[in-house]
Formats: sequence, structure tokens, C-alpha cells
Amino acid sequence: MTRITQVRTSIWEWVGPTTSLPPNSCTTPNDLVGDRPGDLSPFTFLGWLVVEVECADGTIGIGNAALAPHATKVVIDSYLKPLLVGHDPLDSEFLWQSMYRRTMAFGRKGIGMAAISAVDLAIWDLKGKLLRQPVFRLLGGRTKSPLPVYASKLYSQPERELAREAQTYLEQGFKMMKLRLGWGPRHGLDGMRRNVELVRILRETVGDGIEIMADVYMGWDLEYAKRMLPKLVPYNLRWLEEPLPADDIAGYAQLKAMGHVAIAGGEHEFSLAGFRQLIDARAIDFAQFDTNRVGGITAAHKITSLCEAHGVFVVPHAGQMHNYHIVMSSYAAPFAEYFPNGPVEVGNELFWYIFDGEPVAEHGCVDLRDDQFGLGLTLRTPRPSEFRVLR
Ligand SMILES: [Mg+2]
Repeated sequence: MTRITQVRTSIWEWVGPTTSLPPNSCTTPNDLVGDRPGDLSPFTFLGWLVVEVECADGTIGIGNAALAPHATKVVIDSYLKPLLVGHDPLDSEFLWQSMYRRTMAFGRKGIGMAAISAVDLAIWDLKGKLLRQPVFRLLGGRTKSPLPVYASKLYSQPERELAREAQTYLEQGFKMMKLRLGWGPRHGLDGMRRNVELVRILRETVGDGIEIMADVYMGWDLEYAKRMLPKLVPYNLRWLEEPLPADDIAGYAQLKAMGHVAIAGGEHEFSLAGFRQLIDARAIDFAQFDTNRVGGITAAHKITSLCEAHGVFVVPHAGQMHNYHIVMSSYAAPFAEYFPNGPVEVGNELFWYIFDGEPVAEHGCVDLRDDQFGLGLTLRTPRPSEFRVLR
């Protein structure tokens, strides 16, 4: 038996070059209140929280969180660290419940759960290293070899550029890809026409043998979404993602009940209790938790089982190792998201710059190694030209 002796947090703030996205790259919930529709700045993650949990024998587990890293760091340093030191990291369920119940007054969702998620990832990474197994083999083992992923980028953009970007994913061997829709209620009928045009161009570019999805990033309202759904039917979308703000569970249920397009959501939902609500309300066809928000591997594994029992597919937000291990170990999770490695934009791609070990897609798939213990990630040495690291 070993004990946790140290919990260290650091914030990796990107100070390198960024590529800015033009207006109307994607709708967001800010469109209702902001003067710049499609402004992604409140959903930009240019700083990440990294947590290292160390044991008496020197083994270190690594976890991460991308939401509000400064606030997440304070939660871990002030409230979670004292609950961890001195305990056995193999008691991951006890540690999760301890963190959850002792922060319940102010935690439960949002930053509180992001902090628990980061620590839980580090604990599962530790468990894997101590038991000399990859995390997916501690959950359910290998269900896919390799693991299919969909290319996730394709912002709303002029026709020719959209087609060109989609073509590059086809050439790389992706069989699935996702588009962001750029127009919402403020743009009226003309915006509706432009959204449909984006989907039409993508479908015509890739043909009928490629799965395509569309993401609204919570930028529509219920009435607008009800008018849009029938217009999307001819293009055979695999799903429409986050058509409404995350709290409008009843609205999601109404859209799903229309039966036009499968509804995906949950990347802004938290905990087993949150997904029970979504499932009870018949609000989603695809559950898209992110393991580094929803409560770590401990919560994601339980939610995946809940989804399996209710015939809801799991396709986590953002790919990344912490999600790939969940997808690899369950038949309820048929494939995963994949953010291509490229210049830093909104920060979705920042993990490529912080960690080594993230699998690179080949022919539309990634694979996990049986001989890489834990989550399979190591921390890079930060370059001063790229990161300011705050400890
Ligand atoms: Mg999304």
C-alpha cells in the first residue's frame, strides 16, 4: 500500500501566437447579449490547469482541467488537497465521494466539479501506474481496435474554404466530421438560409458515405431550433449538437421528440446526477460529457453505464486521453471526437502543446497502447515562448 504525499497544481497559460477566428465562426449563447455575434472569447481556453498527485514511492499521476484554471486551482489547493494527503490512491471511490460531499455546499457543478475531475484523472493515472495497466484495462478493457474518431473543426466559413477543409479530412481518412453553424436568432431568415447552405455544402463535398454532424454551441433558442430542424432533415446529420443553452433540458426534450435529427449534448453538464436528469427527461440521443469536467474517470464510467442502460450513445467532448480510455472500454461509446493538432485558436488544441502521448489519428482512428500505464500522458517541458507556468 502507498499513500498520497503531495498534490501540486500549475496553470499553463499560453503566451504564444494565436489565430483569431472571424465573426460568425460559430454561434454561442453570448449572441443574445453581446454586440459581436459569434464571439467565442468567453469559450476560449488559453490556460489549462495541471494537477500532479504524488505517492510515497515517488509515482506521480497527472490530471488536467480546461475550465477557468485560476479558480479551479484555488479549489484544489484550498479544499481538495487536504482531503487527499495521507490516503491510499487505490481507494478512488472513497476519495471521489470525499471530495464531492465535502464541497457540496459550493461545488456539485461547474468549477467545483472541474477541480474534482482534474484530481480524479490524476488518481486514475496513478492507479494505472501502480497496477501497471492502462486505465482502459482497469475499466472494461479493449472494445475497439483501433478506435474511430471524427474530425472536429470546420467552423462556419465561406463555401470554398469549408469545402477545402472538409476535403483535407477526407484525404486524411476521416469517415466522420463536424461543422459549426454560425448563424442564430439574431440573423433571422437569412441566417437560417446560411446555416442550411453550410450543411448542404458539407454534404455535397463529402458525399453520402461520410457521417456529418453540426454544432450550435448553445447559440439558438427553442423557437429558432424548432424552425431549423425540419430544414436540416435532407442532409442526414448524425446529430445536431447543443442547440440550446445547457440548462434548458425541457427544450432539448422537445427537440428530440420532434424526431427530425438526433440531439447531442452534455459537454456543459456535470456529474452522474446531471446525466440522470438529461436521460430521465429524454433530452439527448448522444451524451457528450467531458471526463475532465463531469467528475473524472469515476463519474464518466458510471454515466457511461447509465447511458448503456437507456440506449443513449456516449461520444465525449474533445477526444483526449481521458476520454479515449472511457470510449475504448465501453460498447455504449461507439467513437470519439478528435481535435486536429494545429495552430492555437480557442484553446481546444492546447493539450497537444502541454502533453506528450496524445494519439495522432491515422485513417480516421486512434489507438491506445497496452504497454502504456495509467492515462499514457507525460508533461512537456514548457517553452518560455509558448507558456507562462504559474504554480
Ligand atoms: Mg460541442
